[in-house]
Amino acid sequence: MQAVQWVAPRQFRVVEMEKPVPKPHEALVRVESVGVCGSDVHYYLEGRIGNQILTEPTILGHEYAGVVEAVGAETDPALVGRRVAVEPGVSCGRCEWCRTGHYNVCPEIRFPGGPGCDGALRDYIAVPARNCHPVPDGLGAAVAAMLEPLAVAIHTVELAQVRPGETAAIIGLGSIGLLTAQVLKHSGVHVLYGADLLAYRVAAAARYGVDVAIDAARKDTVARIRELTGGRGVDIAIDCSNRGEPLAQVCRIARPAGRCVLTGISGNETDALAVSDARRKELTLRWCRRFRHNYPTAIALAASGKVDVLSLITHSFSPANTGEAFELVAANADNVIKASIDW
Ligand SMILES: [Zn+2]
Ligand SMILES: [Zn+2]
Repeated sequence: MQAVQWVAPRQFRVVEMEKPVPKPHEALVRVESVGVCGSDVHYYLEGRIGNQILTEPTILGHEYAGVVEAVGAETDPALVGRRVAVEPGVSCGRCEWCRTGHYNVCPEIRFPGGPGCDGALRDYIAVPARNCHPVPDGLGAAVAAMLEPLAVAIHTVELAQVRPGETAAIIGLGSIGLLTAQVLKHSGVHVLYGADLLAYRVAAAARYGVDVAIDAARKDTVARIRELTGGRGVDIAIDCSNRGEPLAQVCRIARPAGRCVLTGISGNETDALAVSDARRKELTLRWCRRFRHNYPTAIALAASGKVDVLSLITHSFSPANTGEAFELVAANADNVIKASIDW
């Protein structure tokens, strides 16, 4: 089988590999679709995300779906032939955090497409069967792969603890931001503000539930949201960007005693918070680490059409053109929101 391996910044190569054999409790998945995530792009360009550094050739890709081709011993054979969305992180199941439901912060977690753990940009991958979530018939592979960022969006909204009729703002209207927008609207948010530096994403935002979209390249996001809310600020301020500045901005646009959720990944080891605003307003800040127990909800929202996933996938590439896909996403070219690699 073949795999697409990252070897150095802006450099992939196709390598031949041994097709894996599923061990007990594992499923062998024939990969059909892998989404290109902003975090993958950090690795692609810089070889690192903060202190997570790629020191050897690595297969990227963690947003993926495929068809189960075989299962190992002690695994339900009914999985064979099913299209599954694969929850990427493999946690230890034994540590204090795994045992208390916080498996997403397991220190032993093996997360594909990062340091020391190959990802899904390959023909086949063997994974624990418990990480495979069969999707309903008719749910396409590229949409099934996007259940991963949808799970992030759902977890973000859970952390925000939305109450009906509240106001919210999202900084960063990429695929995570636009999925979060839709989930927030389904959770009772009354007025939703959004901001992005890219005019085409600002223009697209209304379709995904953003009531007032701010072109952050031309307007000061903080000043504009303060103005629009009569100086009050929003109940919930969320960072879904790939930059450091929004961490301070969410502190400035949240109302007194408001909540901020920090889901974006700047790629930096440290970023500045507006600590004075945050303290004087007694804000609650919550960081989002991927998701936990959110795939069933993601499947339900995507399969019912309550969340529009499909139209966010603006580009599709073959595995041989992975480099082209990453360059497109890195440059935010051709109005890209989500690019997928499809077999
Ligand atoms: Zn991702
Ligand atoms: Zn653990």
